Amino acid sequence: MASLRLFSTNHQSLLLPSSLSQKPLISSPRFVNNPSRRSPIRSVLQFNRKPELAGETPRIVVITSGKGGVGKTTTTANVGLSLARYGFSVVAIDADLGLRNLDLLLGLENRVNYTCVEVINGDCRLDQALVRDKRWSNFELLCISKPRSKLPMGFGGKALEWLVDALKTRPEGSPDFIIIDCPAGIDAGFITAITPANEAVLVTTPDITALRDADRVTGLLECDGIRDIKMIVNRVRTDMIKGEDMMSVLDVQEMLGLSLLGVIPEDSEVIRSTNRGFPLVLNKPPTLAGLAFEQAAWRLVEQDSMKAVMVEEEPKKRGLFSFFGG
Ligand code: ADP
Ligand code: MG
Repeated sequence: MASLRLFSTNHQSLLLPSSLSQKPLISSPRFVNNPSRRSPIRSVLQFNRKPELAGETPRIVVITSGKGGVGKTTTTANVGLSLARYGFSVVAIDADLGLRNLDLLLGLENRVNYTCVEVINGDCRLDQALVRDKRWSNFELLCISKPRSKLPMGFGGKALEWLVDALKTRPEGSPDFIIIDCPAGIDAGFITAITPANEAVLVTTPDITALRDADRVTGLLECDGIRDIKMIVNRVRTDMIKGEDMMSVLDVQEMLGLSLLGVIPEDSEVIRSTNRGFPLVLNKPPTLAGLAFEQAAWRLVEQDSMKAVMVEEEPKKRGLFSFFGG
């Protein structure tokens, strides 16, 4: 029975980047657990190396899930800002119509004066609706509509495609990445958000309801011609996996059959940073979840993925940090 299979894991899942030797290893259990080291957790940025951009630009990536509250907006903000920190130009589009909150997570809510609706209606220019982040000037936010407002009739996938085309032909040049934060559900808002995209990042948590929605969404994305779909497993708790109260990442991967872009641990810092409007990846010192988002962004750029493998747990050596290898 599927449900039995899901919870039957009695091993801990250890995740290793596919080509660890070529990648900067950003944290290891030894570093994190040893308080005598001065800089216990390290960011990839310290290596002063930029990931190699694979594929044609602009890369148009929709961040989706099906289920609400699994971490799409958190992923959009943190992966988007990581890409900007790597030196790529990024436009993040908040396509969550009624429940817009990407601006809040980024701390840009007071600077959104115009939205896509005004651009389409001819009430403002596209550059007036783009909000440039003061911390990373190569990161811009574009919101589809005002919070709680209804979209005008006729604003759908075609309108969003038109806006994306307009971004590509801006005088200052096309961005490297256009990241679209998709609303929950699979109705009109979802269809609008996925229309211009040519790749998708599916965010899921390791629970059965999120997985069922993620599976449905994968089918819909494929029907829409989006075949490049990677997943991020968010809010993972090693203690619960060990206690067989949570599916392991390997179980999730087996169920969805998607390549793995990243694994983000459950981390109270995520909630803290959400409430402060200060994205996690900018935290100093970096946090585990922030580093995991950075690594996921790195893999996104290089069109790389990571592997979930089963290992016998070594008593007392493996903990939360084993998600990052080492
Ligand atoms: P969505 O956009 O899918 O609806 P959000 O990104 O808004 O989801 O996240 C929903 C809530 O979950 C937020 O309060 C956020 O702070 C929290 N959250 C997301 N990821 C994590 C995590 N890894 N650890 C702890 N809390 C998280
Ligand atoms: Mg959201």
